[in-house]
Amino acid sequence: TMTATTRRPTPRAVDAEGVMAAVAEVVADLSASPLWASAVRCGIGSAGPVDTSRGTVSPVNIGAWRDFPVQERIAAELAARGAALPTVLAGDGVAMTAAEHWLGAARGYANALCMVVSTGVGGGLILNNRLHPGPTGNAGHIGHISVAFDGAPCVCGSRGCVESIASGTAIARWALDQGWTPQAGSGPDGSDAPGAARDATAAGVA
Ligand SMILES: [Zn+2]
Repeated sequence: TMTATTRRPTPRAVDAEGVMAAVAEVVADLSASPLWASAVRCGIGSAGPVDTSRGTVSPVNIGAWRDFPVQERIAAELAARGAALPTVLAGDGVAMTAAEHWLGAARGYANALCMVVSTGVGGGLILNNRLHPGPTGNAGHIGHISVAFDGAPCVCGSRGCVESIASGTAIARWALDQGWTPQAGSGPDGSDAPGAARDATAAGVA
């Protein structure tokens, strides 16, 4: 049950503090909720790679953050707003896997690999009914396993990663390369009006 929500796009072309400023705005928004005083814990799900043993993140798609101490920084933001809460960091794929095993598609299965396919490809593992994040929180992150050794270079420095071929971004790029023309009326608003948005994303391909 979502009781209070807010969101910010990830700022581009800013430094590490610029990205953190957007996160601080999220904390500020949520602190205005009448439920703020009843919060008992803070969970952070971040794009990976993460290092949960140190509380740092180096998301492939957020170049401004390398070994960024997000856990400590968010804990400080919470404390500054009167909520010194226990704060826990997980990779977003691992967090999603925990939720799917608890309440979703993996419920009742002793072993599962859950995948996120969007801008990138993320994942997490359930082994013997337990979440298996590994020592640094990246186990099951299959997006940067190389499956085509002569494939295109990936932003992670490897070649032919699952993510560089099978992410939503890659699906849309492949379709455009094959001559696909996004259709009017396939935009997010479903409009067929002339000049309506043409959805050149993987959703549009589908
Ligand atoms: Zn990669």
